[in-house]
Amino acid sequence: MLLLAGIFLFSFRPTPEWGFFGHRRINRLAVFTLPPGMLVFFKQNIDWLSDHAPDPDMRRYATSWEAPRHYIDLDNYGKPPYPDLPRRFSEAMMHYTDIYGLTVNGDTVHLFGPKQNLDDTSAYRIFFKAQVLSHYYNDDNSINPDSLNAFLSAPGRFSSAFFKENLSAHGILPWNLSRMQGQLTAAFRRRDSKKILRLCADMGHYIADAHVPLHTTSNYNGQKTGQDGIHGFWESRIPELFADEQYDYFVGKAEYIDRPDEFYWQTVMESNQLVDSVLNIEMLLRNTFPTDQQMCPDMRNGRVVVAPCRDFSKAYQEAMQGMVERRMRASIHAVASIWYTAWVDAGQPNLSDMDPPVAGKEELDAEKQLRQLYEQGKIIGREEQH
Ligand SMILES: [Zn+2]
Repeated sequence: MLLLAGIFLFSFRPTPEWGFFGHRRINRLAVFTLPPGMLVFFKQNIDWLSDHAPDPDMRRYATSWEAPRHYIDLDNYGKPPYPDLPRRFSEAMMHYTDIYGLTVNGDTVHLFGPKQNLDDTSAYRIFFKAQVLSHYYNDDNSINPDSLNAFLSAPGRFSSAFFKENLSAHGILPWNLSRMQGQLTAAFRRRDSKKILRLCADMGHYIADAHVPLHTTSNYNGQKTGQDGIHGFWESRIPELFADEQYDYFVGKAEYIDRPDEFYWQTVMESNQLVDSVLNIEMLLRNTFPTDQQMCPDMRNGRVVVAPCRDFSKAYQEAMQGMVERRMRASIHAVASIWYTAWVDAGQPNLSDMDPPVAGKEELDAEKQLRQLYEQGKIIGREEQH
């Protein structure tokens, strides 16, 4: 292996999943399927939407809350169609959260464990929504002790309180998208150009991730089946090699989606049904394709790396019968349709004379900082799954 001295093993780290390439392409192409009422604004900002499509992946180097938004390990919840997995976020959280109180004497008391199927007016649900859900997205696991004491009718009993949830560790992809749907609709209603662009770019990213089979399983990088590296092979290597020269990007017009929540679940379920093929086909190919023709030296960012060879990648793509292209096309159509749905739900506001969404100093500084953290390359949470 002397020949390989000085050659880096291909880790795909510099261009994670759909790859920065794929994410940029998906957001860009989504713009062209929009109706005239949206097109002018979106075309004006098409470079921004495309350039910022990988931001959520970069944020994974800056914050701990970012990672779970990119995936959901459906296999953690039994077998398809996962009947026990609550589709409502509040339900899921109640099912996977414990609440603790600290008494004035310093004892920690476990107060509430997982709860299921409470009706909408139950006192616990109302307490939970106010004290847990409202804090969760702010990365805060404290509970106001006065509210807890009031809820328990035990004034002064607890001096502080907190919750522990076991949901995030397995990913919150579809739930997070549902929440963002509301935020995007509200941003359109306010005709807040900056917010619209930020949310559209981010949602474009997460929707594209939802179309990737390996974003719906705990075996996300083939690590449980001896197939390490398959994540980047499927999402980065294949699109980079073939998307420009071979894929058909004509996906038709954006369409209104009646139930975005259901749509997000349907998307991750569809992706999940493809997991076995993604893994089995690669395994079969690896065992039958000449071993010395599977990994090849390749140039990346000015240095030599080892990556799946072109012919090996082509064979994988063909054996999957164009699955990568189909999922990429479905992503483009879904992203556009979701943007369109939020605009329609907001009453189709006129987007032609909004404030120009020019980034101020604050945004530019934040952008610079994010890029620096990314380049230092200390990911928080799972590697290889962005
Ligand atoms: Zn991602």
